[in-house]
Amino acid sequence: MTDVLVKKLRENRDLSDGELRELIESSAHDEALRQAADKVRRERYGDAVYLRGLIEFTSYCKQNCLYCGLRAGNRNAQRYRLSREEILSCCDEGYALGYRTFVLQGGEDPYYTDDMICDIVRSIKEKYPDCAVTLSIGEKPRQSYERYFAAGADRYLLRHETADPEHYAKLHTDKMSSENRKHCLRDLKEIGYQVGAGFMVGSPYQTTENLIADLRFLQELQPDMIGIGPYISHKDTPFRDEKNGTAELTLRMLSILRLMFPYALLPSTTALGTIRPDGRELGLKAGGNVVMPNLSPVQVRDKYAIYDNKICTGEESAQCRGCLEKRIESAGYRAVTDRGDVKRASR
Ligand code: SAH
Ligand code: SF4
Repeated sequence: MTDVLVKKLRENRDLSDGELRELIESSAHDEALRQAADKVRRERYGDAVYLRGLIEFTSYCKQNCLYCGLRAGNRNAQRYRLSREEILSCCDEGYALGYRTFVLQGGEDPYYTDDMICDIVRSIKEKYPDCAVTLSIGEKPRQSYERYFAAGADRYLLRHETADPEHYAKLHTDKMSSENRKHCLRDLKEIGYQVGAGFMVGSPYQTTENLIADLRFLQELQPDMIGIGPYISHKDTPFRDEKNGTAELTLRMLSILRLMFPYALLPSTTALGTIRPDGRELGLKAGGNVVMPNLSPVQVRDKYAIYDNKICTGEESAQCRGCLEKRIESAGYRAVTDRGDVKRASR
C-alpha cells in the first residue's frame, strides 16, 4: 500500500508543518520513508558512497557547548594538537588508501592562527591538487573564512545545531548564539564554499517543533551537505545525565532529509554507529551517501572525545578503510574514491 504522506513528500520535496510532525512522531511511515529515500538516492547518486578522510587535528576548544566533551570547562579532557607535518602525513596515508577529500576538524583553538590554517590548507592542496579540503573549525570572522578559501579550502562543515534560538540558548553559553551561527553559514555560502550544516537528533530539550524548524532553516540555506547524528551524552559535561538520541529517530530524519534534499551529501555518522553497531549501515540504507573514516593518528584518537564510547578509536587507518568498505558493501552500496562533489543539476 502506498503511503500518501511519503509519496507527497517525495513528489513535492515539502510538506506542511502538521504533516512533517506526523512523519517525525510516528513510526508507521518508517518503512515507506526508507524505501522512498533509497530510491531517490539511487536516482541521483546510484550506489556510490563517498569516503572523507577525517583528521581531528586539535582537541583544544575555547567554547563551552554544554553537550560536548571537548568544551573548555572540561578539566578531565585530554588535549592534543597535530603539527602541519603530522597532518600532512595523515593525508599521505589517506591518499594511499584512496581518499580524495580530507576533512580537518577540531575544537575552536586559537593556537592555530589564520596564517597557520592557510599554510596547512595550501600545503595539502599543493601536494594533492586532485583532493578537496574541508574545514570544520567552528565560528570565525568572515575575513578568516575568506582567507582559508583563497588558500584553497573547498568546503566547510558548520552544523547549525538547532535552528531555534531559544533551544540553541539552552545548549550553549551566552557567548554563542543561533544568529551568529546562521550568519557564519551564510558568509561561507556567499564566499563560495560547498557548505555543510546539520543538527543533533535528540539533543536535550529538543521538541518536534525544533526539528521542523531545522528542516525549514535547511530549506532556506540549501546546503550541499547535511550532517546529522544522535546526541550522545558525555560524562564530564553538564548534560551527563541527559538521555541519548535514538537511532530510530536519526534514521527517520535522514530519510526525510533525503526526500527534501535529493541532491544533498548526507553522512552516515560515527555517532550513529556508536549508539547501534549496525547504525552506519542502516544510515546508508535510510538515504546516507557519505562516510567519514578516521585518519587521525591512533595515539590521539581516544582523546578526541566529544561524546562517550566513540567507536573506531583503536584501529589503524587502513583497518578502518577495510572495515568500512565491508560495511558499505554489506548494506548494498559501493565505496568510491573520487572527490564526490555535490550533484545539484536536474530537478
Ligand atoms: N568545533 C567545531 C567542530 C567539532 S564538533 C564545531 O563545533 O563546529 C563537531 C560536531 O560534533 C558538532 O557540530 C556537534 O554537532 C557534534 N557533537 C558535539 N558534542 C556531541 C555530542 N555529545 N553528541 C553528539 N554529537 C556531538
Ligand atoms: Fe568546541 Fe565544537 Fe565541542 Fe562546541 S561542539 S565545545 S565548538 S568542539
